Amino acid sequence: MHDEPIDPFNGDPADPTAGLDDPGDDTTPDPLTDVERQDVLEDLADLEIYQALLAPIGVRGLVIECEDCREPHYFDWDLLRGNLRHLLNSGRPRVHEPAYDPDPDHYVTWDYARGYADGVHDTLTEGTEDDPDPGTATTAD
Ligand SMILES: [Zn+2]
Repeated sequence: MHDEPIDPFNGDPADPTAGLDDPGDDTTPDPLTDVERQDVLEDLADLEIYQALLAPIGVRGLVIECEDCREPHYFDWDLLRGNLRHLLNSGRPRVHEPAYDPDPDHYVTWDYARGYADGVHDTLTEGTEDDPDPGTATTAD
């Protein structure tokens, strides 16, 4: 799918077109869309729940597969919260600042945290809803 001609100046520091495509650091970043903003806010809310549930059992944060490095990055709870707040305020994610020398045993994925939270939620709500007629459940023998 590479139809465009190869740039003969590609990689050449003297490239006269260098920087034309580079937005630079001083441009104002696009603000988050409402949907993106909502996503970040939901992530922040989830994070509070996950930390409350998982920190007491020794989980120090979340591991996130980095799309840039193709490597897992380990983020402490505080770091995650800081990154999400930064994203909210600036409209762009922080350059990754993974935890220093993390112990992978103490980090879980978002999916794991979500599943854990769901499981706890189910346990807490179990028995609070009366099943009107358990006898109607069919067995699939
Ligand atoms: Zn990375």
